[in-house]
Amino acid sequence: MAKYRDAVCKLCRREGEKLFLKGERCLTAKCAFDRRGYAPGQHGKSSQFKRKRESDYNRQLRAKQKARRVYGILERQFRRYYEDALKRRGLTGFNLLQILETRLDNVIYRLGFAESRAHARLLVTHGHFTVNGRRVDIPSMNLSVGDTVAVREGSRDLTYFKDLPALAESRNAIPWLTRDIKTLSGSVTRLPERSEIDGNLQEQLIVEYYSR
Ligand code: SF4
Repeated sequence: MAKYRDAVCKLCRREGEKLFLKGERCLTAKCAFDRRGYAPGQHGKSSQFKRKRESDYNRQLRAKQKARRVYGILERQFRRYYEDALKRRGLTGFNLLQILETRLDNVIYRLGFAESRAHARLLVTHGHFTVNGRRVDIPSMNLSVGDTVAVREGSRDLTYFKDLPALAESRNAIPWLTRDIKTLSGSVTRLPERSEIDGNLQEQLIVEYYSR
């Protein structure tokens, strides 16, 4: 499986905003964006002072890159999601966001069972979760309404999962998911509405980018 291997914080610095890719660390003074809030690279610092008129293409590209980075998806797969969204009925951009939101790694993160989407991916690939009672190790798996995710029986004694209820409690409940912190499980009750997905994502610009 192809993977992004460079420093994750560079992605926030490149997008010019905090994308919260590292869980708790993002809220501490260690956040690289808070310490060096300019683009990475030799000219990153000086380029922030240059007034640039942003082209339409650049705005579309940045919107696409930001969504890709928030969900931790590489280009080829992201384009496949776009093509899938295009085939569905309704607004393509919204369809795309729903596909991204219903990925297994995102659902686990939203349920509060992982500190970040990257962490959720790691937990899934290590086989710590089940979907509808079956062990899974594919973080990109898309869930449907009615699907149930749970921490695997054999993983519950691990220290991380023993401490998990406290972490999960500290995270807000998500309206389109139900969760049971006692049994470390959750279900998709319906698909998310647009207002329940990150408002900073500009799906229309992503559609424009791929429709060029
Ligand atoms: Fe981004 Fe989090 Fe790194 Fe800060 S700590 S730069 S928010 S990934």
